[in-house]
Amino acid sequence: MGILEVKGVNKRFGGLQALGDVNLSVAENTVHAIIGPNGAGKSTLLNCLVGKLIPDTGSVMFNGQSVLGRKPFEINQMGISRVFQTPEIFGDLSVLENVMIPCFAKRDGAFRMHAIEGVQNEKQIMEKALLMLEDLNMADKRNMHSASLSRGDKRRLEMAMCLVQEPKLLLLDEPTAGMARADTNNTIDLLKEIKEKRDITMCIIEHDMHVVFSLADRITVLAQGTPLVEDAPENIKGNPKVREAYLGE
Ligand code: ADP
Ligand code: MG
Repeated sequence: MGILEVKGVNKRFGGLQALGDVNLSVAENTVHAIIGPNGAGKSTLLNCLVGKLIPDTGSVMFNGQSVLGRKPFEINQMGISRVFQTPEIFGDLSVLENVMIPCFAKRDGAFRMHAIEGVQNEKQIMEKALLMLEDLNMADKRNMHSASLSRGDKRRLEMAMCLVQEPKLLLLDEPTAGMARADTNNTIDLLKEIKEKRDITMCIIEHDMHVVFSLADRITVLAQGTPLVEDAPENIKGNPKVREAYLGE
């Protein structure tokens, strides 16, 4: 049994079958990549995992519990965190404050920073956030205005905001989309660093093959809403079915 088990998931948008009978098993502590041409249904699948979309049929089990019918914040509390294509940080706040916010959210189930939070709690949260920044080698930037960070550091900060919640599964939708090669390589290094240091499972949707082959332990190829092949990276490269799916891209 994988930490994430998707079985028989279908999703239609009007007359369009975006996902057709998707089965996916993600093993714990691995990096599982989902690749496929544009429009293959990758983002739709990811949205079904985080509660943003509800599949028409099928099941999505995380850690033995169904995620279906739960709200995104509840799924987040179950241990699934999502990294967005463009880093979602609060530019007006300091780096440290940004990492503190998800700690409040974890406890309350929503972004509520009200007066009930005692000073002592806030102090503990600050310490926790600072440890997280140290872990990602960003502690020296803790008092910086987040908007002034470099693009790479914004991505690093966003990862800190995710990881401070101690997720078991990290979902990444094209984390290097639109990046120059140097930023892409920095992101690969950051994700490798995270993978090596913690007990975490990652499910990464990615178009860039360099990223996929640098990180993935396992690859699922999605085409027209259906998994075409699932295999180790070394077997994906030469697979004729995969080449065919990408023809005409
Ligand atoms: P990918 O991420 O692999 O590029 P998507 O999951 O975004 O693919 O889209 C799969 C298909 O579903 C596409 O044909 C897309 O146009 C369609 N689609 C995605 N979201 C919606 C929506 N909210 N309403 C209607 N069609 C959608
Ligand atoms: Mg997409």
